[in-house]
Amino acid sequence: MSPTVLFAGRAEQRQAYHHHLTRADSEAGIAINLAMDPANCDPGAVHYLIFAGNGPVQDFRPFRKLKAILSLWAGVETLLTIGPPDGVAVVRMVEPGLTQGMIDYVVGHTLRHHLEIDRYLGTEPIAVWETDYPPLAQDRRVSILGLGTLGTACAIALSDLGFAVAGWSRRPKTVPGVTCLSGPEGLADALTRADILVLLLPLTAMTERVLNAERLARLPQGACVINAGRGPLIDHGALIAALDKGHLRHATMDVFDIEPLPPTDPYWAHPKVTVTPHIASVTRPETAAVALIESIRRAEAGEPLENLVNSGQGY
Ligand code: NDP
Repeated sequence: MSPTVLFAGRAEQRQAYHHHLTRADSEAGIAINLAMDPANCDPGAVHYLIFAGNGPVQDFRPFRKLKAILSLWAGVETLLTIGPPDGVAVVRMVEPGLTQGMIDYVVGHTLRHHLEIDRYLGTEPIAVWETDYPPLAQDRRVSILGLGTLGTACAIALSDLGFAVAGWSRRPKTVPGVTCLSGPEGLADALTRADILVLLLPLTAMTERVLNAERLARLPQGACVINAGRGPLIDHGALIAALDKGHLRHATMDVFDIEPLPPTDPYWAHPKVTVTPHIASVTRPETAAVALIESIRRAEAGEPLENLVNSGQGY
């Protein structure tokens, strides 16, 4: 029997996902029964729910035959707050387009801070010929909090460019060319050595406000912070205080406690803060469709699912 798959992303995504899911399904030879509009689909008949936190489905209870919820997002804190039914697998999004986008963003903003490009982008023309050479990449230490799919890909890309890269994860890891740290001492080491600190942690009970005043104080004088994980990873008052007193040089912020970031938020006007509107990366329909169909193929074939979310751990 063909499994019924419901796409519950935003309405404007339907056309692209319909095209790419249909193509990927035909290449995989599964012949799914694909529904694109939750308003015209019996939830009791759905086996696989393709879910976005900002989509139309916000209650899983009517989906009584679900085998798996396939998240369109890498971050699953919204999904877990809604509460997947017991026994239903949750798969987070891992796909090459999302990963490549994050590599581009993190490498781009790291190079900006490494080369101090802002010094030469001044709005006022200043005819000052100062030859301050930036250090070589090998002498610039980058620490990445979160050494998962995205953090590891960024760590490898930065290491390949020559940066001295460390990564911090919950469990010990080995990544060639990257100093891998874990546990509380590992976090202290990662912060102490971070000329540039990149946050790519999921938002969980354990990671909320992980970058607080005490930990910000561990960063070297003049460090830069890039937050591409989730807004609540940071104590924002402490971050602004660290920028204002000159301890930190700059913060590039892509994610916030409230999104869209309210117009009155102090980050917008802060001279040492760059705000990007949660555009570090995004799931790309063409490559994501292949990953979604592969999860369905595995589940239907009785093979273990990859990128499973552990609800207890929160990611
Ligand atoms: P993964 O689940 O692959 O990786 C999460 C990493 O964080 C793992 O290394 C994990 O450790 C580590 N971690 C989790 N909890 C802790 C903890 N308490 N202490 C130390 N380390 C911890 O996630 P992804 O790499 O796919 O995505 C990371 C996050 O990026 C997403 O959750 C999302 O919030 C954000 N994101 C942001 C986007 C944007 O556009 N700004 C786009 C996509 C994602 P371990 O390896 O031991 O499990």
